[in-house]
Amino acid sequence: MKRILMLTTGGTIASRPTEEGLAPGMNGTDLAHYLSPLTDNYKVSVRDILHLDSSNIQPEEWQIIARSVYEAREEYDGVVVSHGTDTLAYTASALSYMVRNIPIPVVLTGAQLPIEHPLSDGLDNLRTAFAMAASGYPGVFVAFNRQVMLGCRAVKTHTTHFGAFDSVNWPLVAGVSGAGLTVYPNAIPPLDGPCRLRDRLCQEVFLIKLTPGFNPEIFDMLLQMRYRGVVIEAFGAGGLHFIRRNLIEKLSTLIRAGVAVVVCSQCLYESSNFSLYQAGQKALAEGVIQGYDMTTEAVVTKLMWALGQWEDVEQVRACFGQSLAGERSGAGAG
Ligand code: ASP
Repeated sequence: MKRILMLTTGGTIASRPTEEGLAPGMNGTDLAHYLSPLTDNYKVSVRDILHLDSSNIQPEEWQIIARSVYEAREEYDGVVVSHGTDTLAYTASALSYMVRNIPIPVVLTGAQLPIEHPLSDGLDNLRTAFAMAASGYPGVFVAFNRQVMLGCRAVKTHTTHFGAFDSVNWPLVAGVSGAGLTVYPNAIPPLDGPCRLRDRLCQEVFLIKLTPGFNPEIFDMLLQMRYRGVVIEAFGAGGLHFIRRNLIEKLSTLIRAGVAVVVCSQCLYESSNFSLYQAGQKALAEGVIQGYDMTTEAVVTKLMWALGQWEDVEQVRACFGQSLAGERSGAGAG
C-alpha cells in the first residue's frame, strides 16, 4: 500500500460552527475519523501542522508547510495538504517554487462545506487528492471537484460552487470518472534536477490592480515603505495610462531605485503582450518584467520567492524568463 502523509492546516473542511461563524475546530484526529473509506487503500499518517482559516495563512505558514512537505519526501509516496480554499492557490504556487522538483506528488485540497456537514464535498475532494498523491507523478497539485490541476495554475474562481478552482492557461493534470483517476502526463512538467528546500521569501511585494485614473503617486509611497517588488495588473494585453497621470514615468523611477516591477494582465485567461500597444511598449522600454500567461497568484509568489533568493534584480528578471514549475508557457525550464 502507498504511504500517504496528510498534513492538516485548517480551512472550511475542518471547520465547525462557532458564535462568530465557522472556524477551524477539528484537529487531525477528528479529520482522520472521516478518512476510514481511504485507509483501506492507503497507509495513511495524519499530522496537524496548523489550525487556521486560510485568510490567516501567510508567508510564515508557507514556510511551515514547505518544510513539512520537504521532510516527508523520502518516507512517503505522496503528501495531501488539507487547506482553506481562500488562499489555497497562493500556497500551491509558493510551494511549487519552495520545494521545486519534489520527487513525490504533493496535493492540496479543501472543501466548500465542512466535512461534518451532511452535504460536504470534503470527502470527495480528499478521495481525489489521495488518488493523485498515490499516482507516482511528482509535483505540486490542487485536487478539487474530481479534477486535478497544476498547483501554480490554480485560481479560486467561485465562492460557493463545488467547482471552486479553475486551471488557468493550462490543461487539467488528471480527472476522475467511471474509469477512475486518469492522469494526463503531458500536462505535468518533468523534474529537472534534485529537490532542494529553498524557503526564503521576501515579504516586501505589493500587488496593484490598475483602475482608469489611478494616481501614480502611490508608487512614491511604496518606495518610501521600502517595497522591493511590485506586481501590476494592467489593462488587457498590456496597457497603462500615460496621459494626465503618467504611470510609465513613475514605474521608471521605481525601476531605477532597484525595485523589481512585474506587469501582468487583469484578464484571467490568455497571455499579456506588452509589445502590442504603444502604452505597453513604453513600459517595456523602462525595464518592466512581463508576467505573460502566469496567474496573479503565481506571479506574486514567484516575485516573493525570487527576491528571497537574489538581491540583484537582473537575476530576478532571468528567473521570470524561465518556467520553474510550469507556471509560464513559452519559456524553458530554469
Ligand atoms: N475561509 C475558508 C478558508 O479559506 C474558506 C474555505 O476553506 O473554503 O479557510
